[in-house]
Amino acid sequence: MENQYVSTRDPKCAVSAKQAILKGIAPDGGLFVWPDVDKVRVDLEKIVDNGYLDNAVYILNALLGDYSEAELRACVDNAYKNSFASPAITPLRAVGDIHVLELFHGPTSAFKDVALTLLPQLMSTALKTTGQKAMIMTATSGDTGKAAMAGFQDVDNIAIEVFYPHNKVSAMQYRQMATQEGNNVKVFAIEGNFDDAQTKVKELFMDEELNAEAARQGVMLTSANSINVGRLVPQIVYYFEAYKDLVREGVVALGDKVSFSVPTGNFGDVLAGYYASMMGLPVEKFYVASNSNKVLTDFLKTGVYDKNRAFVQTISPSMDILVSSNLERLLYYMTGKDSAKVARWMDELKTQGRYTVDDATLARIRSLFDGDFVTDEQTKETIQSVYETTGIVLDPHTAIGYRVARSHPERPVVALATASPYKFSMDVLDALGTASVDEWDALRKLETVCQDAIPAPLAALETKPIRHRDVIEVGQMKEVVRQGLEALL
Ligand SMILES: *Cc1c(COP(=O)(O)O)cnc(C)c1O
Repeated sequence: MENQYVSTRDPKCAVSAKQAILKGIAPDGGLFVWPDVDKVRVDLEKIVDNGYLDNAVYILNALLGDYSEAELRACVDNAYKNSFASPAITPLRAVGDIHVLELFHGPTSAFKDVALTLLPQLMSTALKTTGQKAMIMTATSGDTGKAAMAGFQDVDNIAIEVFYPHNKVSAMQYRQMATQEGNNVKVFAIEGNFDDAQTKVKELFMDEELNAEAARQGVMLTSANSINVGRLVPQIVYYFEAYKDLVREGVVALGDKVSFSVPTGNFGDVLAGYYASMMGLPVEKFYVASNSNKVLTDFLKTGVYDKNRAFVQTISPSMDILVSSNLERLLYYMTGKDSAKVARWMDELKTQGRYTVDDATLARIRSLFDGDFVTDEQTKETIQSVYETTGIVLDPHTAIGYRVARSHPERPVVALATASPYKFSMDVLDALGTASVDEWDALRKLETVCQDAIPAPLAALETKPIRHRDVIEVGQMKEVVRQGLEALL
């Protein structure tokens, strides 16, 4: 059990769960995976009887070998006991004939909170074992950055730097990040898009000079992005929770299959669902729902992953991504754990921007995954039609998953709701046919139609001062990380 996790690109590159979480990414550029996760069997009866916290401890304990159960219990309690507005953590709500899994009741109103309230706990626990400090570098398309900073704010021995694409996040996402408090957090807008930021962050993890400098100071460079195992594992829990609720409501009998529709960017969220299915969750289909950056839709149709295309800025900015990093983990399992093949494809992606998977792999993927994309116009139309027929307001990301679920036949189907509509209130209001002058006006107008009140942390932003104003070039990222290392001393 000790060296449980290996790189997707090399089985000889093996580490423990704690090390995998501290390192974030494998030294060869691969992602850490546990090859034997498909041998874990989750007891569904136990899941149905338990509450969220107990289920989280149970599932984490099955996946993170060198954490003790007592450590995991403390991590889970610290993460979830006081920070979610819903006692269920991730409540399931029927919207028409689709079950919507609301993942946005955490501190920053996006699903990233479910993992990013827990990751700092897992990391601090692991750091106690090694006696090191950690410097977290995180690229964000808007939601991860805020959730990560909120989770890591003033955590001892950890500093965090976040990079987001300048002018390519929603007004509320910008406010959330630029007003972030905490002595150990820094936020930078970069000239470029999310992929530019993510690619550079991955490069910096491999940077020998930077790593040597960090090591001299007893600091690990690590990531809070969904490439980190510590992000993936907490997300597996809510797939089981959704199933539990369907069983309790009598929608399915224990053992019946369910489908999931997942608004997708970096492929982290839907991958967690795949992990759940490998561990015994009965799943019929996963729908990979994309916006107009439809690389994954094309990939699922043709087996060709091709990022050589124009990047489209949409009203679902958290999904404006052309390189879905976590797909690498799916390829690892779907090729029968063929690391050499995965390494070759990832090399082709790096050098040519595209790769083609073999027919057998594509067939295996397609037996469980289906995909579709939704344009901005269709997203708005969905927000409006769902509101008119059910009275419920969806955010643009959720609307994409909802629309894809609606257009496919499988039932029951769970559509993952990844953000509160308040986080994207201007575009949501626009979809409902109401104009707004700014994000604050939009918040208040939206509250007159939404069933839920404005989340308190979003309302509070209006009076918070802007604390972070730096706009930098991608080429300056290394230097600001270096400066961050000095500040950790
Ligand atoms: C991050 C995000 C997504 C995409 O999730 P991935 O794990 O990157 O696929 C979808 N919706 C929202 C609101 C997000 O913040």
